[in-house]
Amino acid sequence: MIEDMIPIGLDDYIKFNCCSKNVCFNECCRDLSQALTPYDILRLKNNLEISSQIFLKKYTSMHYGPESGLPIVEFKPNPGTGHECPFVTEKGCAVYEDRPASCRMYPLARAVAKTRETGGLTEFFALIEEPHCKGFRNETKETVGEWLQSQDVRMHNKHNDKLIEIISLKNKMLPGMLEGIQSDQFYLALYDLDEFRQQIFTGDLLKDLKVSKEMMDQIQKDDEALLGFGITWVKYMLFGIEITL
Ligand code: SF4
Ligand code: SF4
Repeated sequence: MIEDMIPIGLDDYIKFNCCSKNVCFNECCRDLSQALTPYDILRLKNNLEISSQIFLKKYTSMHYGPESGLPIVEFKPNPGTGHECPFVTEKGCAVYEDRPASCRMYPLARAVAKTRETGGLTEFFALIEEPHCKGFRNETKETVGEWLQSQDVRMHNKHNDKLIEIISLKNKMLPGMLEGIQSDQFYLALYDLDEFRQQIFTGDLLKDLKVSKEMMDQIQKDDEALLGFGITWVKYMLFGIEITL
């Protein structure tokens, strides 16, 4: 696929409009190789009102990164149509309200880097121009910041930044391939949230940890709190970072 990535800032203007009148409507959803983040999966499985186990089994495939051993979860290729997203319909996206971050961001790509002075994250953006996408022919003009706001991607970025942080910790503290059990713990706590919750409340996952009743109540009923807890638990299990909960 030919693509151009052009660096762009939050205040720069883009002329882009994705709508059903474009001749390319849905084309981008029919040729996918799309990695899903834990927060993408949380939103999608809740949209469909199914458990993470069922969602992962039905809609995704997983493989381990060949150099990191980290789990990589993607939409499962459709046996009938190859790389078509399972949620694309003639009318558009069937899970639009809860579509993944990369679907919201397009035609932008986002990267973050830690600022040495403050430890905070700085965002960088690039415009992706692909020949099949005709959204650029439109005259609609917005700044990158306005575009991002219209796509309601803030919560996705917030959660995905925590994933980036944990991956960079892994690269620093455990370079090379993770062991099988470590990869399994990573997958369980971040991607398979309902199974993680089940094992917390009926198994001995937390036997060495003191977790407050308030936190237990939160993770029992709130998936976002559970995902935050999962990241903290992985930091403890993989990197030995002490936690107070
Ligand atoms: S989730 Fe929706 S927007 Fe994203 S690729 Fe699938 S159909 Fe397209
Ligand atoms: S304009 Fe671009 S993003 Fe929108 S449907 Fe067409 S190819 Fe996809």
